[in-house]
Amino acid sequence: MEILPIEGRFKGKHFVTISQIRTVDEIERIFEVADEMKAIVEDKKANGDLAGYCVAEIFYQPSTRTFTSFLGAANWLGAMSIPVHGMSAYSSAVKGESLADTIRSLYQTTAADVIVLRHPDDDSSEVAAQNSEVPIVNAGSGKKEHPTQSVLDLYTIRQELGKMDDLHVAMVGDLKNGRTIKSLAKLLMVAGKNNRMTFVAPDELKAPEGFIEEVRGMGAEIEETDDIENVVADADVLYVTRVQKEWFDTEEDYEKVKGCYVVDEELMKKAKKKMAVMHPLPRVNEIVTGVDDDPRAAYFRQMRSGLYTRMALLKLILRG
Ligand code: ASP
Repeated sequence: MEILPIEGRFKGKHFVTISQIRTVDEIERIFEVADEMKAIVEDKKANGDLAGYCVAEIFYQPSTRTFTSFLGAANWLGAMSIPVHGMSAYSSAVKGESLADTIRSLYQTTAADVIVLRHPDDDSSEVAAQNSEVPIVNAGSGKKEHPTQSVLDLYTIRQELGKMDDLHVAMVGDLKNGRTIKSLAKLLMVAGKNNRMTFVAPDELKAPEGFIEEVRGMGAEIEETDDIENVVADADVLYVTRVQKEWFDTEEDYEKVKGCYVVDEELMKKAKKKMAVMHPLPRVNEIVTGVDDDPRAAYFRQMRSGLYTRMALLKLILRG
């Protein structure tokens, strides 16, 4: 099946890259449905909207939040779910099967209506999409994309700050290997006017030039610095990320940068009164637990946004 832009219609389409979303109306549509999903969960009024549908989740990389929130989303809406963790260790990938064949097989063995995929290759979701008869939802592909994460991130920003325009978002940490910032940066450019970003990273972890140029090409004003103190006082969102150990060649290289930024109570004293600290999680040591009770610490609420927005995306893709 071809990968098509959303163009106002999610039904039956893959969602493999954030670039498929091109208008603020499409974002608003997801959020409108996510708000309905929030009400369903909060009022404990599950309605079986996706009864009879089957959602397969196949994960080749570790996951806590993405995996369980998709599982939760399918269950809250009454769909059947087929959750498979540990694909890289236990599936026929070990025997040398291609991703294309695995996707074709899964469709036959499960009769899934949608396949949620996490995989370490940058182009995995595209490969899967081209070989799938049902929509593929990208739940994290390599270092490149995490589109559903960026949807939940933006939903959280809207919830915390009440707007999607005029935002200064500081993205901090491993901008080279991290995939969440790559999707979020692009979505912020579609979401509103006058959004600008500061990328905070040491030289070793700077965002790739090609990616920065691409986002600048979407009209983004992007500054780069290695000093978090330069941005903290002016940021509306401090989007902190983990140094992605799994992508480093040597332990030594990782050790050199692993503690590059630590958000603590002292740093938070310099931040605005109204702002949000976010993190896709897991955190290793980038935010001290002492910050967790700060009202501006949004990273636990951010996870719940994942449930609502993934419910919304499944519903929009399966039923429109
Ligand atoms: N959970 C996020 C991801 O899968 C962030 C991370 O792993 O650091 O990309």
